Amino acid sequence: MANLAPFLYIDVDAFFASVEQSINPALAGLPVMVGGLKHERGVVACPSYEARARGVRTGTPLYEAARLIPSGIFLRGDFNRYQDFSERFYGILYSCTPDLNKVSQDEACLDIGGVLRHFGDARRVAIQLQQRILRELSLSTSIGIAPSRVAAKIASEHRKPLGLTILTSETLPAFLAGLPIRKIPGIGPVTERILLEMGIKTAGQLASVPKHYLKTILGINGLKIAAYSRGEDGPLLRDYRVTRSVNRETGFADDITDRKLLLSHYFYLLERATRKLRSLHKRAGTVRIKFRYADFQAVEGVGRICPASNDENDIFPMVERMFNRLFTRRVGIRLAGVILAGLRDYRDNESFLNDRIEKNRRLLKGLDHVRATQGFFSLMTGRTWSLDSRYKRGDTGYELRTPGLSQ
Ligand SMILES: [Mg+2]
Repeated sequence: MANLAPFLYIDVDAFFASVEQSINPALAGLPVMVGGLKHERGVVACPSYEARARGVRTGTPLYEAARLIPSGIFLRGDFNRYQDFSERFYGILYSCTPDLNKVSQDEACLDIGGVLRHFGDARRVAIQLQQRILRELSLSTSIGIAPSRVAAKIASEHRKPLGLTILTSETLPAFLAGLPIRKIPGIGPVTERILLEMGIKTAGQLASVPKHYLKTILGINGLKIAAYSRGEDGPLLRDYRVTRSVNRETGFADDITDRKLLLSHYFYLLERATRKLRSLHKRAGTVRIKFRYADFQAVEGVGRICPASNDENDIFPMVERMFNRLFTRRVGIRLAGVILAGLRDYRDNESFLNDRIEKNRRLLKGLDHVRATQGFFSLMTGRTWSLDSRYKRGDTGYELRTPGLSQ
């Protein structure tokens, strides 16, 4: 069957802003921007379509957004609220098929091969999903259906909001031929510039470049985007969102000069980042810290973690040393972040070689489990106590400033 299109990629339109509009219907049709209040600093994490129409994008600074839309609705956002909607969204998807990949809180890729065998029509499956999510959650979604995961994702971005784009093996090549390269997953600004300098503007042109040539220029990513440009999932089939680093950062409502309080934030961010690593079964070989002074001067430090680790207690002394060495000015800090990179897989059995590592691994596994079932605050360390009076407790941790951006 040439038309077989087994993948359905679904993405909630302007997720955070749409949830706010769904909860408070008075906000429907208004330019809503989630990320912070008008006078606060930081960036818009998610603008509603009404705000996008007036020039606000994800990442637009709040003061700039306030200038563009003085009467706009600015909201800090609530991570737990989004998590609740995310769970209900996935509940609906799972009732369609258990065969799905979670991509993010509001994006998933469903293998609808089995569903189609029973119900036949891909368009009907998509419309039913869209209508149910609209009816039950008041959220609009955009859907792409295509013979591969990557093509389904690209198709889902083609028309928004409430879009539906269906590609078959017949229509896919023509669709890709004229597609600008930046629409291909895996092509960021740097790769885009390299390709544009080579005169490659569309997926169609990219597909005609020999694979080995792209590999020479762009490394393994070259092979990946060569496959994507043909609409194929390629050698890294399910892996088009390979995690290369885990980043946790937050801005502060007021500049902080207190060294101890800053280190508490670093410990908390590190704790979040290592937990993510453990869930990915990875360890980090390097840690970077960054911060920004009140006058915007940015500072970064990097250290090697040896042996590679995903234990915050192993890594924190290094973060502390780096921070103490780099924080030299008597100026407040407005933003802090931790990045764990140099990721490598580990096998659970590998740590049997080393008693201490094995003991720690079991301890951390237990900790993650307790927090996943009893809530984040069921176990706390002294290092983060000072954050307790500053932030509201949510189900999954403190509610830092920008939901989604500071996780
Ligand atoms: Mg989305």
